[in-house]
Amino acid sequence: MIKKLLKRVFRPADNIQNVNGAQHIPHSLHGIDGEQISYGARRVTEGLQAAGYQAYVVGGAVRDLLLGCAPKDFDVATDATPEEVRRVFRRSRIIGRRFRLVHVMFGEEVVEVSTFRRMIEEDAAETDEHGRLLRDNAFGDQRQDAARRDFTANALFYDPATRVIHDYHRGYEDTRAKILRMIGDPATRYREDPVRMLRAVRLSAKLGMQIESGTAAPVVRLKSLLENVPQARLLDEVLKMLLSGHSVDCIQRLREMHLHHGLLPLLDVILDQPQGEKFVMLALRNTDERLAQGKPVSPAFLFAALLWHEVLADWKQFQNAGERPVPALHAAMDSVLARQKSRLAIPHRHDAVMKEIWLLQLRFEQRAGQRPFRLLEQVRFRAAYDFLLLRCASGELPDELGLWWDEFQEAHADRRAEMLQPEGADERKRRRRRSRRKPVANGASDA
Ligand code: ATP
Ligand code: MG
Repeated sequence: MIKKLLKRVFRPADNIQNVNGAQHIPHSLHGIDGEQISYGARRVTEGLQAAGYQAYVVGGAVRDLLLGCAPKDFDVATDATPEEVRRVFRRSRIIGRRFRLVHVMFGEEVVEVSTFRRMIEEDAAETDEHGRLLRDNAFGDQRQDAARRDFTANALFYDPATRVIHDYHRGYEDTRAKILRMIGDPATRYREDPVRMLRAVRLSAKLGMQIESGTAAPVVRLKSLLENVPQARLLDEVLKMLLSGHSVDCIQRLREMHLHHGLLPLLDVILDQPQGEKFVMLALRNTDERLAQGKPVSPAFLFAALLWHEVLADWKQFQNAGERPVPALHAAMDSVLARQKSRLAIPHRHDAVMKEIWLLQLRFEQRAGQRPFRLLEQVRFRAAYDFLLLRCASGELPDELGLWWDEFQEAHADRRAEMLQPEGADERKRRRRRSRRKPVANGASDA
């Protein structure tokens, strides 16, 4: 009788069930509806399940939904092999060599489908001499797939058909409590993949989570392992931080965890320029705000900002050595970019835009004659102007200059004519001097 009553009161659907080592969290507890899952991800799980496979929405998307954030994308995990997934969905293709994933296309949406994987047993795993995993692409089951993920919050599987979450590592509780906790022994997991240290910083900043103390503790001791990570992967993760919309918070957390120094040249550049720090932090804050407003941000703009104070320092040096401003700026840009290339792996494709933004800075100070009009017509005017505003806000230039350009852009023709400055004495002197010398041959002749 009492048993029956208890059963009625605690209906299984309201309870966490333990099934094969996993906690099954019902919809009545977590509240994630099928409609919150993207159309493509629902179609993928339905299609795979109809074909007899297991399929779940997994990883960041489940975590984000539990935290009330909009997921960036939806990933699906399944027991079907990539070939089997391919066979279920006509519009799909296998990608990646090391981890073979399937991309399934639904109009604009691409759903990434990964086959359950397991960590390779310790003695059979291929690691480098520091314990970094070189290969971890053996297929496994759901439980093993959960165990190879990094944080408990990232190891939740949501089944859109039953609306049940499968949780092997108490990730549901941790996520609710906003705790970011490493699965397994944190030190071992950082050795396997040191980038997890940076992921801890980025995810905790982005999601307002607390890094659990045991998860945070080994970082100080193991941070030098980041030196063994390929530059391209580091840059990738650093870029994710800078473009996460929470870059200022990321930088603060990196400092707290002593991760900012000596490891990541790009971040050294940011944080070790005493006079540049204010400028850089303003640039990052500005980037965070733009992202919050759904505005686009360009990596080139960010790189241009990160390196600006190095460019300024070199520019001054070249001028002190007797070079005129325009050629000196060209020389400074080239020397800074060349120096950075050896350390940062900033992709070359950003060079042209960075240089344009820097070069246009020279022209904002020229407010006479036709020059301001020609500047307005430049393709990169907007980016260069945003950059100018940062320079004003950081105290490098007077606010008046930014305000002048703000007004000039919007003003009617009459007002613009009034705003133009007379050709100054300096300007005339410069022109006389220039006409006596050979013309500058670098395309910035109206600068
Ligand atoms: P976001 O996409 O919001 O940046 P995410 O957690 O989804 O965060 P992804 O890089 O998209 O990050 O990875 C998807 C999932 O893959 C993660 O949730 C995690 O389960 C797993 N994962 C990613 N990187 C690692 C790693 N270095 N070690 C272990 N598991 C990882
Ligand atoms: Mg993701």
